[in-house]
Amino acid sequence: MRILIVEDEPDMLRTLSQAMREEGHAVDEAVDGPEGLYKATEWDYDAIVLDGMLPEMDGFEVLRRIRLIKKTPVLMLTARAKVGDRIHGLDTGADDYLAKPVDLNELAARLRAVIRRSQGDASAIITIGDVQIDTSSRRATKAGAPIVLTGGEYPLLEFLALRRGKIVTRTDLYDHLYDENDTPMSNIVDVQISNLRKKFGAEFITTHRGQGYCIDA
Ligand code: CA
Repeated sequence: MRILIVEDEPDMLRTLSQAMREEGHAVDEAVDGPEGLYKATEWDYDAIVLDGMLPEMDGFEVLRRIRLIKKTPVLMLTARAKVGDRIHGLDTGADDYLAKPVDLNELAARLRAVIRRSQGDASAIITIGDVQIDTSSRRATKAGAPIVLTGGEYPLLEFLALRRGKIVTRTDLYDHLYDENDTPMSNIVDVQISNLRKKFGAEFITTHRGQGYCIDA
């Protein structure tokens, strides 16, 4: 999943970005309100982590402006003491909030939840035929047997599985699985789709010629 993190404190930004990359996300960064707003409106992120206190334009104003045009899930970071900030954030259209200091495991879990809910899934487990994907442990099984996935294959599988029944274009896959600093090989998605078919069966992912890929619901 591709995530935008908007945070002006360099150490905090680095910590959050690294932790979310370790979770398998592609991460873009912005260091102030205007840059965050620009990136949030320019790209379709799977989720945005937005600090409330930002220079030039605070996170609440960034969120208000994002919400005029986009429904991208937003998780706001707020000062622990400020209940008013959390209420303000939720009223402005935040999908969730987390108080600083941030617990990185909790942030990862809350992000997974807002991303799932944005795709209409409440449960962490996705079941498709005899395949089960556990989005919290990032593991998959087929007919009860664990399937070993590489760090590149899992995000692709999850992205398609969350959109099961819908055709996902190659452009969508490149846009959501790689961040602004990545230069993925042009055939990497085809290679990974081919690997996933070897692991889950040729029929598991269908190709819609000239349109994209689909996992049937
Ligand atoms: Ca800040």
